[in-house]
This record gives sequence, structure tokens and C-alpha cells, in this order.
Amino acid sequence: MNKALIIGCGGVASVAIQKCCQNSDVFGEIMIASRTKSKCDALKDKLKGAKTIIHTAQVDADDTEQLIELINSFKPDIVINLALPYQDLTIMDACLATKTHYLDTANYEPRDVAKFEYSWQWAYRDKFREAGIMAVLGCGFDPGVTGVFAAYAQKHYFDTIEYLDILDCNGGDHGYPFATNFNPEINIREVTAPGSYWQDGKWVHTKPMEIKREYDFAQVGKKDMYLLHHEELESLGENLNGIKRIRFFMTFGQSYLTHLKCLENVGMTSITPINYNGMEIIPLEFLKALLPDPATLGARTVGKTNIGCIFSGYKNGEPRNYYVYNVCDHQECYKELGSQAISYTTGVPAMIGAMMVLTGKWKGEGVFNVEEFDPDPFMDALNEWGLPWVEDFAPTLVE
Ligand code: NDP
Repeated sequence: MNKALIIGCGGVASVAIQKCCQNSDVFGEIMIASRTKSKCDALKDKLKGAKTIIHTAQVDADDTEQLIELINSFKPDIVINLALPYQDLTIMDACLATKTHYLDTANYEPRDVAKFEYSWQWAYRDKFREAGIMAVLGCGFDPGVTGVFAAYAQKHYFDTIEYLDILDCNGGDHGYPFATNFNPEINIREVTAPGSYWQDGKWVHTKPMEIKREYDFAQVGKKDMYLLHHEELESLGENLNGIKRIRFFMTFGQSYLTHLKCLENVGMTSITPINYNGMEIIPLEFLKALLPDPATLGARTVGKTNIGCIFSGYKNGEPRNYYVYNVCDHQECYKELGSQAISYTTGVPAMIGAMMVLTGKWKGEGVFNVEEFDPDPFMDALNEWGLPWVEDFAPTLVE
């Protein structure tokens, strides 16, 4: 019987854990381990009727020794890291020490500087290869499904992909003037960072939110979207042969942008510590404490997400365009699992990626991004586990 250790018990983890329990043939036994054990116990309680055997534990995932001890006592076949990007390397170190497969949904981030790059984790390639284990990086939706979409487009529809635009639209409304739909600290670090895109083998840098486009999203409608740097541009730039340009766009509502600008202007989004009455405070961490917990947004969020990829290139010498996307309804996610669609669209692929490893459909020794594997079984699983995808062979292109 397969065993999975899931680290973290926030918005994304609670979806992945519930999906593992729906899939008890693959996930026979799981351990939920996080900083706050009461959250793990509450989720275990909610899942009382599940066939999957559930254990819980307290762990500080910044501490490799604690992680090694936990892994040695539970002996999982895979560790699914759904804590924060700061913990990626300590968890990878513990996986190396115990020769256990690893999977995450976000690249490692040092606490003091926002980078969104894979260099630290790619530096583990030889160590994982030598240990005979695999690490699957970035297996959420974006990164994650977007990489699987790219591998699928390459395998079935193109000889060469020259242009790729990743469009991430959240048409949901939670009714708050300002809230983030995943971890506020990571979300705000991401959107306040300078933008960039990959062109002709190198990065082109932009100011934050400098490039804006409007797009008419299926089942959502017209939205403004902004070019951001995003980590999968780096891996796709390396893994898609002949690619000339990759861009990433995300939609933001006017209220979100106005609040963010104001918070930024007064210094509340800074990650540089300040001294306040003798106490060291990181403004962004303090702001996080004030904002609604994304895990609680589910009940009040209505509307849909639409996330997908538009590819342009050639097949048999003929030019071709191809758009593949998923539409996810916030309220449907809430009805099924008590979560909003952002956690849902990240947690489901994390479960599927772990299933690919546990069932041997994805095999390898080393550190991999998802586009390096066969996309077909993952694409089938998306349809089966709640994230069906739609193809469009004559999409509107982004100028
Ligand atoms: P949350 O903040 O809701 O959850 C994070 C969880 O990790 C919490 O349970 C938290 O514990 C736990 N945690 C934090 N630090 C530690 C630690 N040192 N030791 C043990 N546990 C710890 O975040 P989300 O669920 O929204 O996001 C989870 C991950 O998913 C993030 O890395 C995020 O970047 C990524 N993500 C990826 C996406 C994609 O498409 N690829 C999209 C959205 C998110 P506590 O409860 O005590 O705070």
C-alpha cells in the first residue's frame, strides 16, 4: 500500500489531501504534517469516512533533522511539499537523506529576496540522480498543468512551438475590497516583482505591471491582464526546443491593483525587516496577519477561473495555433471540498503528480519539471479528477 507524507495543511494542501482520500486505491495511507497540528487534526476529522488511513503530526519543515526523523518513522513512498517555498530545500535535503521521492508546487524562495527561479533546486539534480530518487518540481496549475499542456501540445500538435502565452484569469469575486487567493506573502511578492518574459534565449525585463492586455476569456468574459515574471518561463525556455518567446499574463481587478499600489507606496509590501518599538517586523508578514486567510475565501467566492496556454508554431511545415485551458467554478469547488478554485486548481494537480510517481507512470532519477514527462496519463487524470480541459484550434492571439 502506497504511503504519502504531505507537509503543510493550508488551502492547497487541504484540497490535495481530500483528493488523495477520494483516490484511496493509490493513496492507501497518508500522514498530514504541518506547523500547526490542530489544522491537520481538524482535516482528519472532516475525512472520518475515508478509506485512506490518515495520521497527523507536528513538524517544523525549516528543520531538516525533524523532517528526517518524521520520514524515518512513517516511511512514505513520496513527500508532497505543500508548505511554503521557503521550505523546499530543507524538505529536499530530508528526502535525500532518507531516499524518498519529492514533489512540490512552487520553486524555492530565499526569505530575504524574491527570485522565482529554479537555480537552487536544479543544483540538486546530481544528488537526486545519485540517490536513485526523483523530485518533481512545480506540480500545481501554473507552474504544473501549464507545463503538462506544453508537453501535450509538443507531443500531439507541433513539430516546433515558437510562441507560448500562458494566460491565468481569475474571474472570481470574494466580496472583500482586498484579499489574495493564495498565501498573501507569496502572492504579493510575486505581483510586486519586476516583470519579465523569455525571448530568443534571454530574459526581457519590464517594470511591475508595465505590460497590460485585454482578453476575452471563455466562460468569464473580457478581463485586463498584466505581464508577470513566472517561474515556469525558465523551465519551459529550457525544455521547449525552438521556442522564441514565452510570456505569462495574469488578470487583476481594479480594486486589487489600487489597494496593492497604496500598500506598496506606504511600505507595507516590503520584505526588509524594520524595527518597531524594539521588535523586528517584516511589513509583508504583518500585512499577511491582517488579511483574510485564503483558505476561508471559499464560501464567499463566486465566478470562474480560466487558465491555459496558447501555442503558435508549425506542424508538417504548416503554421498552426492551439489553445488549451481549464475553466473552474469557485462555488463548485466549494461544494465539493470547501475550497475556492485557486486552491483547487493547485491541489488537484499535486495529487495527480504524486499519483504519476506512485503508479510508475512518471519515472526518473534526478530533479525534473513536469514538462519532461509523458503528458498523456496526466491529461487523462485531469479530466477524471475535476479539472477537465478544452481545446481551441482557432484562438484569438495576444498581440
Ligand atoms: P497556506 O499559507 O494556506 O498554507 C501553507 C501551509 O504550510 C500552512 O499549513 C502552514 O502552517 C504550513 N507551513 C508554513 N511554514 C511551515 C513550516 N516551517 N513547517 C511546517 N509547516 C509550515 O498556503 P497555500 O496553501 O495557499 O499555498 C501552498 C503552496 O502552494 C505555496 O508554496 C504556494 O506558493 C503554492 N501555490 C502554487 C500554485 C501553483 O499553481 N503552482 C498556486 C497557488 C499556490 P500554519 O497553518 O501553521 O501557517
